[in-house]
Amino acid sequence: ADTPQNSDPKMAPVLETIAAISTPPGRGGIGIVRLSGPEAASMAAQLVRLQRPLEHGRARLADVLDAEGETAERIDEAVVTYFAAPNSYTADDLVEIAAHGSPVVLDLLLRRAIGLGARLAEPGEFTQRAFLAGRIDLTQAEAVRDLIDAQTLTQARQAASQMGGALSRRAAPVKQDLVELIALLEAGIDFAEDDVDVTPQQEIARRIDELAVPLSALEASFSRGRIVHDGLTLAIVGRPNAGKSSLFNRLVERERAIVTPSPGTTRDTVSERISLDGIPLELVDTAGLREAHDVAEQLGIARSREALADAALVLIVLDATQPLNEEERDLLRAVQGRPALVAMNKRDLAEARSEESAALDGVPVIATSALTGEGVAELRSRIVALASGGAASESGMLTNLRQHQAVTTALEALADAKRANESSIPHEMILLDLYRGLWALDSLTGQTTADDILQLIFSTFCIGK
Ligand code: GDP
Repeated sequence: ADTPQNSDPKMAPVLETIAAISTPPGRGGIGIVRLSGPEAASMAAQLVRLQRPLEHGRARLADVLDAEGETAERIDEAVVTYFAAPNSYTADDLVEIAAHGSPVVLDLLLRRAIGLGARLAEPGEFTQRAFLAGRIDLTQAEAVRDLIDAQTLTQARQAASQMGGALSRRAAPVKQDLVELIALLEAGIDFAEDDVDVTPQQEIARRIDELAVPLSALEASFSRGRIVHDGLTLAIVGRPNAGKSSLFNRLVERERAIVTPSPGTTRDTVSERISLDGIPLELVDTAGLREAHDVAEQLGIARSREALADAALVLIVLDATQPLNEEERDLLRAVQGRPALVAMNKRDLAEARSEESAALDGVPVIATSALTGEGVAELRSRIVALASGGAASESGMLTNLRQHQAVTTALEALADAKRANESSIPHEMILLDLYRGLWALDSLTGQTTADDILQLIFSTFCIGK
């Protein structure tokens, strides 16, 4: 129902037919060229020789031709699927030509489509058309990109739920209530001379408070949503030989299969992206924070300190066979109040030393042995618990800064409205704040998002989506 994009006079009607190769570059079993726009079907009919005419929602076998006209030769066989407007991904006429995944064939198809008058699609332009047509909102469009970029199943699930409109559905009743409040105040103003009662101050305050409750909960969902979306960095620090690298390897071994190589590997810090219980985690194994003897070491130490400062979580690895040194005490003090864990490593060589626990004040200690694997499972689950901040997964979480900004702006506007209401200034002034809140909520779903920002968002998509 929310399709103001259609009626926005700024938006030119969609006329061009766009084309792109929607499958990733390189060879593959299948490669797909997508066409969308009013000419999609007629162009497809010239690009391939169809055995039967295109029909909405039906796949058709066809010969891919190397040129136009009678002398054209077949260079591949394809399956062509047609989706008639408005029941397609873009809401325009859409054709997908699934040929064999040969870059030569796909390039030829694309080039011929352009020869027939199609324009090369911009990144994300198919999804942008769906958005401009009002078929999906901005949070759903963002979810499409998130789904494609997902590296863990948890991320994919979250994206799929947002793609289904979970976030918009959560925001919709708040918006509805806000509109009602605005209508009440507007009525109070417009009909002040008539017999409509002006809404009493307490009633306005109550309604604003009621709006803020679900909105604050939505705002709070960002802490978890962002972790699932972006992941976290865990810095592993400690003195040389404490067992940092060994523990690092222990932590990642079960996850090897889904580990992706990270470019952050340097002489002094090694990092690896893993997924612990669906939370993407970047482990940074630092060179240690020892006293430097030469310039190279100094650089390494500086980098370790940087990694420590940047990391959301810190794992301090202590050697259970050694007493705490000054540097380790400093380290423990430095992480006070931050999410941190101590691994008391080499547990196989030494009993837990209770006399040290005072120095570890507040930082939870897990006894581990990188050698035998003892305590590693517990360490892993403690890291996950720390990473998710104890927050449970919920439906319709905020997952990026743009969404978070929209909701915090709405909350700020409500707070301003409440203050204005308390100071008994005219309702027109309260309304200004409420409209600002409404505008912010609308920007969440993209109804009031500036064109250049939209452009920026869709440019982060891949070509062909
Ligand atoms: P790092 O310098 O902190 O990265 O330490 P390493 O992981 O390279 O380990 C230093 C030495 O301690 C290596 O010889 C490891 O095999 C050994 N080591 C690491 N963890 C343990 C452990 O839990 N028990 C025992 N016995 N040896 C360990």
